Amino acid sequence: EKGIECKKVFFRYNKKANTYAMKNIDVFFPSNCMTAVIGKSGAGKSTLVDLLMGLNRPERGEILLDGIQLTERNLHSLRRSISYVPQDPFLFNTTVRENLSLIQPNASEDQLWDALRFAAADDFVKRLPQGLDTLIGDRGIRLSGGERQRLVLARAILREPTILVLDEATSALDSENETNIQEALEKLKGKMTIIIIAHRLSTIRNADQVIVLDKGEIIQQGEFRDLAKEQ
Ligand code: ADP
Ligand code: ADP
Repeated sequence: EKGIECKKVFFRYNKKANTYAMKNIDVFFPSNCMTAVIGKSGAGKSTLVDLLMGLNRPERGEILLDGIQLTERNLHSLRRSISYVPQDPFLFNTTVRENLSLIQPNASEDQLWDALRFAAADDFVKRLPQGLDTLIGDRGIRLSGGERQRLVLARAILREPTILVLDEATSALDSENETNIQEALEKLKGKMTIIIIAHRLSTIRNADQVIVLDKGEIIQQGEFRDLAKEQ
């Protein structure tokens, strides 16, 4: 089956210590499915994401992409297929176009607009006086936090990833901006594996699967409805 999977994954930052940041993690993130990973600060969310992106390697256990075990040799294929959206959107003080085409320099005009419309509400697109050549930041228009994050999301989906990771990507946004991003993600659902790391329940209400981490272990796994009932 297509997707990314952790099989009995263990990980320690300090090989001499007894504390595991990941303990026996068994989880499957199906493609075409939105999975939310929640848990308190220090629960292991970032550690899990780093392992899934191949930035850290499991100490024991394995990670499989579409059933194929990740090794040092095929890690590059994983990295090519992942787009990562962090909490703090990283943008250059240049044009919208340059920020979008940073990773996909050969993207066509249509692809750039499609990605932008996909991730950005139309009011944001309309607000760009010179279209894609509008300067942002100190030299151009100032973007709100939500607009910045939608621009970063547009850039992330331009790569046509098979896995999209949002790491607390809407944590700093107000609920209206968060809803805008959620609507964009709703449209992406079914097209790629979406992994959302979050701490607010409202952020993950559209998830098909929710995983709750605590002290490096999965303490709950199920549908949002079932988890929400227990909270
Ligand atoms: P979360 O993302 O859920 O806040 P983390 O994955 O960052 O949790 O952290 C899980 C555990 O691993 C915590 O105990 C944290 O202190 C520890 N940890 C995280 N990063 C490092 C690191 N670079 N070196 C040592 N310990 C770390
Ligand atoms: P910093 O706190 O260092 O400014 P930011 O991530 O906020 O970090 O900013 C990174 C870059 O983006 C900076 O060069 C800044 O000028 C620019 N920038 C910051 N806020 C905005 C904004 N609302 N709209 C457009 N550009 C911004």
